[in-house]
Amino acid sequence: MTTIELVQGDITRQTADAIVNAANSSLLGGGGVDGAIHRRGGPAILAECRALRASRYGKGLPTGQAVATTAGDLPARWVIHTVGPVWSRDEDRSDLLASSYRESLRAADELGARTVAFPAISTGIYGWPMDDGARIAVETVRAAETQVEEVRFVLFDTAAYEVFARRLEA
Ligand code: ADP
Repeated sequence: MTTIELVQGDITRQTADAIVNAANSSLLGGGGVDGAIHRRGGPAILAECRALRASRYGKGLPTGQAVATTAGDLPARWVIHTVGPVWSRDEDRSDLLASSYRESLRAADELGARTVAFPAISTGIYGWPMDDGARIAVETVRAAETQVEEVRFVLFDTAAYEVFARRLEA
């Protein structure tokens, strides 16, 4: 059984086995969570991301997939980088968003991580509506077959926290 916790705060401050980065496919940094993780985590994370680009992901990390690095100076052991889909009003990309959560948990299982902190993937720069993003996050984690004991959703502001809290009660 996986326990789901909610906290409001900054994911880079979370003590957990792994924190998940809402990355972009370049793996070379960006804004939002990605920028904060590289800023606070220091250059070791970016160096590993560059190595992944040079080896396994020459064309970038595909949307919906996940890959882990160490966590540099962060109070976590690993960062799991996943690329959520950009929101589209013309195309249903929900499966890709669910895949980001599922593949991140799979990566966590490979590492032996027991506690994993997630941001609300795709709900920032990628434009996904928070309520639907929260629904997919909660449903996917609840349905996942994983050895992870605690999933912690880390919501940046009160509004996002309340949306997740409502979804969790549902
Ligand atoms: P994406 O490109 O996948 O949309 P973002 O990083 O832009 O990713 O945003 C994802 C979510 O994370 C948004 O809801 C945003 O408000 C939130 N967020 C931004 N910075 C942080 C942070 N340091 N810790 C936790 N959540 C954050």
